[in-house]
Amino acid sequence: YGDANQKVDYVFKVVLIGDSAVGKSQILARFARNEFSLDSKATIGVEFQTRTLVINHKSVKAQIWDTAGQERYRAVTSAYYRGAVGALLVYDITKRQTFEHIPRWLEELRSHADKNIVIMLIGNKTDLEDQRAVSTEDAKEFAEKEGLFFLETSALEATNVETAFVTILTEIFNIVN
Ligand code: GDP
Ligand code: MG
Repeated sequence: YGDANQKVDYVFKVVLIGDSAVGKSQILARFARNEFSLDSKATIGVEFQTRTLVINHKSVKAQIWDTAGQERYRAVTSAYYRGAVGALLVYDITKRQTFEHIPRWLEELRSHADKNIVIMLIGNKTDLEDQRAVSTEDAKEFAEKEGLFFLETSALEATNVETAFVTILTEIFNIVN
């Protein structure tokens, strides 16, 4: 997980967006530090975190930006999106409304970010299957229609978090190479 003494071939900025409390900060904590907290205030104030991975024998530093509580519609500034080559668009599978807001976030992203940005839709909190309010099929269909990658994750159980980042970073890598 450490970045020390590593030669970096690429730096990719990836932004996390989606409604408040869907698990963005915990997805980032899981990816960057392999940590998880049930206290949602734990990571407030941190602009971004990094982790360096090897993709196709190259060292890729992922610089992952977190909104730090600016999730109100239109509150995320264009500086946040500037230079981003990837976006993780997160909803909570137990909160229907967070999925229904995804088109708004997509519109925000498409008006502020680079038009070639790679976008992955993420349905988080699959450990709460008994409270599921968004079917996998509905989300998959939406993602296909909009041309997005799609995965369901659990930051708590560490399910698919690594896969989500590796998938989007590999796709970005393939686009720039
Ligand atoms: P954010 O506002 O989108 O950054 O959401 P947070 O990462 O702060 O998470 C909001 C709440 O949901 C916190 O209490 C987290 O512990 C919890 N949470 C985040 N991810 C998961 C998950 O995968 N499963 C469960 N059960 N809770 C989660
Ligand atoms: Mg947060």
